[in-house]
Amino acid sequence: MEAATTVEAVKNLVKAARGQGERIGLVPTMGALHVGHISLIEAAVTDGNFVVVSIFVNPTQFCPGEDFENYPRPLEADLAICKKAGVDVVFAPTPDQMYPAENLTWVTVEKLTEPLCGRNRPGHFRGVTTVCAKLFNIVGPDVAYFGQKDGQQAIVIQRMVADLNMPLEIVVCPTVREPSGLAVSSRNQYLSDQQKKDAANIYKSLQECRRMIEAGVTDARQILARMRKILQLVASIEIEYVSIVDAGTLEGIETIAGKVLVAVAVKIGPARLIDNIMVDTDR
Ligand code: AMP
Repeated sequence: MEAATTVEAVKNLVKAARGQGERIGLVPTMGALHVGHISLIEAAVTDGNFVVVSIFVNPTQFCPGEDFENYPRPLEADLAICKKAGVDVVFAPTPDQMYPAENLTWVTVEKLTEPLCGRNRPGHFRGVTTVCAKLFNIVGPDVAYFGQKDGQQAIVIQRMVADLNMPLEIVVCPTVREPSGLAVSSRNQYLSDQQKKDAANIYKSLQECRRMIEAGVTDARQILARMRKILQLVASIEIEYVSIVDAGTLEGIETIAGKVLVAVAVKIGPARLIDNIMVDTDR
């Protein structure tokens, strides 16, 4: 495995691999790698790619007052995880490499970035789409892997790639969960053991939603009220949003039909946690 810290170095490594006829698979991450990230890497390896993992805590996707400074950066441990998982190149640039000058050019996906996390994190998705566009231009992957864990992000990235005719495929991998149902996240390390137990109610509320939809309930308000009740059973949970939206437009719906995204964002102690499920009533 090679580790590249500059744009030039990763470009050269990818160019050499491409010269050997390799298909390039990119897994963009912010590091602090866990089993969720590893599942994306495994998918990229299993698909037979020359696998590039980027590790970059992207400053432009953090809002003022968020955890950019404190975000975990265990680079040595991350490199060991990548090596074990069969990664070919880790691209771990410094902020100077990614943003050598004041950034004046941004990629913005409209509409899809307004609801859900867009509402409380102004500029977040603009930072995500811009850094992903930059990574796609630097690495030039044939395919890039994202997690369903960040459901809105995956939808936004897919739309950016489609709208701008970016020449790569996006693969979305299932959310990896703790045995309690809690979605694995780098931010879970901010939680105490009790807070982790409390956080399991997030997935319980999502499962209850799925159960109600499968039982034939179509009134979104009724389902959302039940979900809120489950979340409010835990005093430490502060709800940011609980939403059922059309999976294509991300607009709120009153009656469940077709493919819907059910998304939750809460604060527990120092951590902001998000989770979601997709439910398709046509299947
Ligand atoms: P991050 O490092 O948080 O930016 O995440 C990098 C990628 O890993 C994103 O595409 C996430 O959606 C994905 N990811 C994070 N946690 C999980 C998880 N528990 N299951 C599946 N994918 C995940």
